[in-house]
Amino acid sequence: MKILVANLGSTSLKYRLFECSGDEEKLLTQGGYERVSNYAETIDQAVQCLKDGGWINSERDLAAVGFKPILAKGITGCVRMDESVLEAMESYREIAPAHNPPYINGVRQFSKCMPDTPLIGLFETAFYQWAPEAAMRYGVPESWFDLGIRRWGYHGASHKFIAERSAELLKRDDVATRVRNLYVDQGTSPVENPELRVVSCHLGGSSSITGIRSGLAIGNSLGLSPQSGLPHNNRVGELDSFALPYIMKTTGISLEEAESQMCNEAGLKGLSGGYNDIRDIKQQAADGNTKARLALDVLIHQARHWIGSYTFQLNGLDALVFTAGISENNPDLRQEICNNLDQLGIQLDPEKNKATIGVESVISKANSPVQVMVIPTNEELVIAREVKRYLTNN
Ligand code: ADP
Repeated sequence: MKILVANLGSTSLKYRLFECSGDEEKLLTQGGYERVSNYAETIDQAVQCLKDGGWINSERDLAAVGFKPILAKGITGCVRMDESVLEAMESYREIAPAHNPPYINGVRQFSKCMPDTPLIGLFETAFYQWAPEAAMRYGVPESWFDLGIRRWGYHGASHKFIAERSAELLKRDDVATRVRNLYVDQGTSPVENPELRVVSCHLGGSSSITGIRSGLAIGNSLGLSPQSGLPHNNRVGELDSFALPYIMKTTGISLEEAESQMCNEAGLKGLSGGYNDIRDIKQQAADGNTKARLALDVLIHQARHWIGSYTFQLNGLDALVFTAGISENNPDLRQEICNNLDQLGIQLDPEKNKATIGVESVISKANSPVQVMVIPTNEELVIAREVKRYLTNN
């Protein structure tokens, strides 16, 4: 069966087409569009492109379109993206203003353009279903919790891929199998001892760090919203909740203006004085821009903070994994994150680290107690697999 996986941004549409048969998923082709103003037209263009390339004869050749939605009220896991799910996403648009509105719009456009094709979404929160409750609660009144004010965790598809792939590389097929079957057997498939302890660092336009015990996430640096945790390209990251009323009352800005600043003018952009791409920030820092250097230092500090937190909760570490655009392509930042952690068993091999850009590799010394790895993430593959399973089971 052919499954199209679509990644919807506010002004972009990226896609990958997979042929899924038996236990295998083969990437057939991929493409994307930037600066999208009319989504319906762009979907038509993408479908035309697949026809022109000979990949499909018509939309009817697609068994489903898979999506990677963020958050919906009362819904997680892998579900059909019908109107009730879109309404549940609408209910939480305030929590994910940069993500939910474009997703809702994009999925509605897909359902207009291909009304007979199943549209299936794997929610980014799904990987955290087995995290301990104590790790996911905020100290808020119960009435707030009842409205969904708790940690959710995101980047689930990416961290799930890392959980499975790192287990394979560490020759723990029992754990890899558990991860692969997570949403089928609810994480209960047995694994052997000892526990496998992994921290996954997804550093990109959005960044998050997850602790993983024998294939199950124990928590994620992203909390209630995808604006929390580490500083993101334009989004704020961790912020004391009392900053918001103080800034609004003292400057007189509206809630909407404060939200917009926290989503569009904050994070690495806010710290560096206007640069949101790590390549530009590094260039600025090299040219002597101290704000840009500070932005890098905050990112590194925060990464170490979360790695440390999960290493402690896991009672040590077997593997530290770097993934996504920043982690995969910047050996210098990986080196700075791993500096002076030899007493914790994290011993980078400087030459292997330097030589590893955008490819899978172990970058720690041969005798390092903790294996440090770079693993390019593959969220689309995780979604294609899950969509295939959904279609098979439903
Ligand atoms: P997103 O969260 O948007 O998917 P990515 O995972 O693509 O983000 O990561 C984007 C970040 O990765 C940007 O800060 C970018 O500078 C950085 N990045 C991507 N490619 C490279 C590269 N070749 N060298 C250095 N940094 C890179």
